[in-house]
Formats: sequence, C-alpha cells, structure tokens
Amino acid sequence: MTHPDSPAEALPCSARGCRTPARWALRWNNPRLHRPERRKTWLACDTHRPSLGDFLNARGFLREVAPMGESPTLDEWTRTTKGWPREREE
Ligand SMILES: [Zn+2]
Repeated sequence: MTHPDSPAEALPCSARGCRTPARWALRWNNPRLHRPERRKTWLACDTHRPSLGDFLNARGFLREVAPMGESPTLDEWTRTTKGWPREREE
C-alpha cells in the first residue's frame, strides 16, 4: 500500500507524461478565454520549461516565469497540459 501524500513542494511538472518535480511556474493568460488580470499557472521542470515557455510565448500568452521557491502562490496551476490553450473557434 502506498500513501501518495507528497509534500506541497513536490508538485510535478505540467508537461504531459512528465513526473519530474517542477522547479518553475509559468504564469499565462489567454486573452480570448480569460480576463486580463487572470493567471493560469503551468509548472515545469528544467527540461520542459523552454518548450512550455515557447508554446505560450509564441501565442502571446506568457506573462511571467518564476522559480517555484519564490512563487508566492500557485493559484490555478494546471496539473497537465491536456488542455493546451489552443485557439477555439466559437
Ligand atoms: Zn517536465
């Protein structure tokens, strides 16, 4: 039997299939879906920070990247990138 009671600091990277503990918080906002002041958070390990960052940056969604240790709060962090913020046609 296992007890998956990992401490808060061990949140996993948001990249699909990655279980590495995250070290970065990527804060982003999709103006088409979110209010301007809203922030979604993806967590990333060192390996995935560039690819997740590029993905968001290419779409103009990326607002800031903060080291996990210095990130004050993780409101609305996303566990996986299953819901890529792709553009939706209404
Ligand atoms: Zn990762």
